[in-house]
Amino acid sequence: MEFDVKKVRADFPILKQLIYNKPLVYFDNAATTQKPLSVIESISEYYKTINSNIHRGVHHLSILATNQYEETREITQKFINAKNKSEIIFTRGTTESINLIANTFAKRFINKNDEVVISTMEHHSNIVPWQMVCEEREAKLKVIPINESGEIIFEEFEKLLNEKTKIVAITHISNVLGTINPIKKIIEKAHSYNIPVLIDGAQSSAHMKVDVQELDCDFFCFSGHKMYGPTGIGVLYGKEKILDELPPYQGGGDMIDKVTFEKTTYNRIPLKFEAGTQNIADAIGLKAAIEYINKTGINNIFEYEDEILKYATGKMMEIEGMKIYGTAKNKTSVISFLIGNIKPDDAGEIIDKFGIAVRTGHHCAQPLMDWYKIPGTVRASFAFYNTKEEIDMLVRAIERVKVMFL
Ligand code: PMP
Repeated sequence: MEFDVKKVRADFPILKQLIYNKPLVYFDNAATTQKPLSVIESISEYYKTINSNIHRGVHHLSILATNQYEETREITQKFINAKNKSEIIFTRGTTESINLIANTFAKRFINKNDEVVISTMEHHSNIVPWQMVCEEREAKLKVIPINESGEIIFEEFEKLLNEKTKIVAITHISNVLGTINPIKKIIEKAHSYNIPVLIDGAQSSAHMKVDVQELDCDFFCFSGHKMYGPTGIGVLYGKEKILDELPPYQGGGDMIDKVTFEKTTYNRIPLKFEAGTQNIADAIGLKAAIEYINKTGINNIFEYEDEILKYATGKMMEIEGMKIYGTAKNKTSVISFLIGNIKPDDAGEIIDKFGIAVRTGHHCAQPLMDWYKIPGTVRASFAFYNTKEEIDMLVRAIERVKVMFL
């Protein structure tokens, strides 16, 4: 299928906006992506025509809403090639998915002196929940080192694994460096010690094909809003066998089988982990987002974004004083950089005046910033609606920053 960026851009109403009288150039896609009209309309259609609570109603609207909500589960299952629909649990996003696993897994499997392995390049949401449960269970957090390019050092990872390791939790793609981690190899190695692996897929689900059965990961977490869907909806995939063994996360409606004052028995997965009224409208929005990605073709997206990344990297490297953080051989969609000793916020503010949205700061990865001994970076992160002309505009804006600050 031919990929036509002009056609794609026409589907995203926000991109038609002018910012400071200049066309919006949106390069903050790692923080959140823009939404195509089909996603926006699916949410408003839900509220206009079938709004009602799901699972426990016998009336017409409730049945329609339940069907759409459950169809989202099915399309999500197919999107990541999960074996069963029941392995797809809806959450608020990656952060909640990781917290759910950290808490329930710790209760069941993590004890005093056990170890949890994460990596140097994790987002805070794949650090802090583990730190919290380690403190509670008196367990230890172990960190996989990286090299200067921002790649994990595999031999060092291997050395961390032992009989005390209870879980490995690692990001698929770094939101700061763009590194695509060799997760299949990591999973294989961890499994050879019978250690389950959680993958933080917040940055990968919109950019590359994910096949959880092929990867054989035990848990995979991602957010709707980073893949052209709404905020407030995310996914936790877990292998049925482990999810069945975990205790519920929250108590309430829908997650129960039978409640008496003496004892409560719980529903089966996925509902065991979906207590209370769910974010029905945004789940339906997520369905539209996945349909949009499927229609565009995830491999087309990957190839086009790779072309954009390579073009941008080439152009940025030509800028004197430019330092790019994250030069892994296998990377995608993100360029983090500093220009001379210009503070990231100063650069970001000038770039903004060109109508260009970039992110500045620590990107919720303070330990990674500490590792590089920098307070933060400027980050341009790409999506398939970005163009080479937009990269040229960014380069011109950076030249302007240099004139002002150097
Ligand atoms: N992990 C990574 C790698 C991320 O980039 C992000 C979002 N920046 C998260 C986790 C958290 O995602 P959310 O805020 O949608 O829960």
